[in-house]
Amino acid sequence: MSSKQHVTVIGLGPMGQAMVRALLAEGHPVTVWNRTASRADDLVRQGAVLAGTVEEALITGDLVILSLTDYDAMYAVLEPAAHALNGRVLVNLSSDTPEKTRAGARWVTGHGGVHITGGVTVPPSGIGKPESSTFYSGPREPFEAARPTLEVLTRTDFRGEDPGLAALFYQIGMVMFWTSMLSYWQAIALADANGLTAADILPHATDTMASLRGFLAFYAARIDAGRHDGDVDRLAMGTASVEHVLHTNADAGVDTTLPAAVVELFRRGMDAGHAAGSFSSLVELMKKPAA
Ligand code: NDP
Repeated sequence: MSSKQHVTVIGLGPMGQAMVRALLAEGHPVTVWNRTASRADDLVRQGAVLAGTVEEALITGDLVILSLTDYDAMYAVLEPAAHALNGRVLVNLSSDTPEKTRAGARWVTGHGGVHITGGVTVPPSGIGKPESSTFYSGPREPFEAARPTLEVLTRTDFRGEDPGLAALFYQIGMVMFWTSMLSYWQAIALADANGLTAADILPHATDTMASLRGFLAFYAARIDAGRHDGDVDRLAMGTASVEHVLHTNADAGVDTTLPAAVVELFRRGMDAGHAAGSFSSLVELMKKPAA
């Protein structure tokens, strides 16, 4: 009999599958359930047990991990078996907004279960790797009890008891990830229009992204101090530069949605009178307006 926690994983997309493999590799008994049962076939060959019903899946594991597309999928899967949530510890690694995760936590708690929110910051290939990390939030004691098992998946980064916090940290990362990757697609489109491949620009793209690290630290201290001095950069200079970017893309005949949106924000900063300050002043335009 294994001394490792028996884990149930509900949701066998690429992420859930990677989690099951990592748990099996560490000797955990694993029960799985998925709407499309055939996605469990390989995992069953590797030692997982396919539950016949969601209810059976919920009551079999000491710990229940959800890896679904979003919280609507959680309701779709769990509502018919909600009576079986009583006394169960759910670690919900499905992504959604902080508000939806808070509502989901209330729903699980209302049925007598424990809800721990998670936000995985790596793709499935990062599961089981020591450098990977996941944000968690929710009741601390059950989290600490689950931690050794969760650390089979990735390192754990507990942010506090508010169930929305893990989702908030996850979304803070995602707003940067999606926008940064779109900027990379834009660069590749511009390169392509000029006869260059993604591979041709890869070293330059990598250096450019790596240089952002220094900018983040430099501006964080100034922004928290409420300073947008124009001693290093001026918004007027930045506006001229982003207009060059927009025109370079337009001249090349590529899509200009993204560079045009950037120019629009810079122009709003100019209109608000920030020309002589740093382009970090744009953050003041983006913040929630004071009540
Ligand atoms: P997928 O969307 O590919 O699969 C998730 C699972 O959700 C599938 O098992 C699917 O079942 C199930 N599902 C979706 N809708 C329903 C529904 N209405 N009823 C029942 N089951 C449903 O997601 P991933 O595996 O890629 O990711 C899982 C979670 O992890 C997501 O929240 C994602 O944001 C997050 N994440 C993913 C990363 C990635 O790179 N993949 C990275 C970081 C986080 P079925 O097989 O039947 O379709």
